[in-house]
Formats: sequence, structure tokens, C-alpha cells
Amino acid sequence: MRVLLVEDEVRLAENVANALRDGPGFAVDCAEDGATGAHLASDPCYDLIVLDLMLPGMDGLSLLKRLRARGVATPVLILTARNEAGSVVELLNAGADDYLGKPFDLGELIARVKALIRRGKGAAHPTLRVAGIEVNTLEQSVTRAGRHVDLSPMEYRILEYLIHRPRATVSKRELLEHLYDYNWEHHSNVIEAHISNLRRKLDAGTGAASIETLRGRGYRLLPEGIGSDS
Ligand code: CA
Repeated sequence: MRVLLVEDEVRLAENVANALRDGPGFAVDCAEDGATGAHLASDPCYDLIVLDLMLPGMDGLSLLKRLRARGVATPVLILTARNEAGSVVELLNAGADDYLGKPFDLGELIARVKALIRRGKGAAHPTLRVAGIEVNTLEQSVTRAGRHVDLSPMEYRILEYLIHRPRATVSKRELLEHLYDYNWEHHSNVIEAHISNLRRKLDAGTGAASIETLRGRGYRLLPEGIGSDS
């Protein structure tokens, strides 16, 4: 998953970005002012936007209103400091999905970010199941037919993304854009190797294929059994 962080306090931004990268393994892009944030935020590559309210250039509330007016539906978590303009009601009415008051606990931020991304993709429960594959997004653990599957961090992130879109064909570009930050083009050659390893580990000993490659179009979790266990 890929998060846009719009925050002008450099140290706080670094701490938040590192926590999101190190914990759930998200790709993170940072913007330090409202205008840059507004420019980046309309890109559909982001699974969530973390938005500070008081920003140079354009404040967070104006940025949020502009995004929603343009029809951008990406979930938005607002960071607020005490005494900042704008009530919680105003934020929620402007299209914010959640908010967190400063100072905040990084663990709470990560939990809220994960919950918002999950719900933004239509999943209410942190454990997702498709065709005998079970992904526990809290523990970042995977089983297939009840057997534990040991994945590398990137293999896990690919599967987590695919299982949130079980009926969709996900292009290589979409995967790259959502799993890496703005440098994603540099990773274009390695993602096929990650998918190949992921497929091998998921399928080992089962005799059943898990991920389909649609030539020139992308990848899809095989639809057999979709919905039977969820
Ligand atoms: Ca600020």
C-alpha cells in the first residue's frame, strides 16, 4: 500500500513516514506544503492520505475540500493540533474519514491508517480470505488451506494488495505504483521475480494455482472459491 503524507513539521513527518514504512511496510511519499500536497493527492496511486491541517501555501481543510470537489475518494486521515482552526464536525463534513490529535502515539496512527485503508477497499475485518488463502493483516501472516506460508516482506505486500481486489485484474504498473514510492519505475524488473516466488510458495504442495497471469494485462487471484470462505 502507498500513503501520501502532507506535513510541514520535518521531524514529525520523518517519524511518521518511518513508522509507516517499518511497521506495515507501506510506501510513503511526503509533501511539506499544501500546494505540493494538493498536486500529488489527486493521483489515484495513493491508498490513503495523512493530512496535517496547518500547512504553508494551502491549509489542510482547503486541500481536503478541493480533493473531494474533484471527486477524489482516497481515504483521508487528518492530523490536528489543539487550537487549530476548524472543528471536528467541519472536518468530517468536508470529507475527512478520521482524525488524530497531536501529539499522538505512532502505534495508534498505524492502527487507524490500516483500518482506513482496509475499509476504503471494502474489507471490514483485518483477516481476508479468498480461495483457501487467508491473509491476517494485523500479524502480516498468511496461510493456504490451513498451512502457514512464509513470505518475504515484498511477497506479502503483493499478496495483501491482490487479496483486497480479488475479482480484479491488477496490472504490473498498478502493483508498482501502490507498493513503491515515487521511485517505483526502478523496481519494474524485480516485481515479476517477487510474483513468481510468491506463486511458488503459495502453490507448494497444494496442486492448485493461486495467481493467474493475464498476458499484457496483469495478475489476478484465481477466482475459484471466491466468497466461499468470507
Ligand atoms: Ca503543520
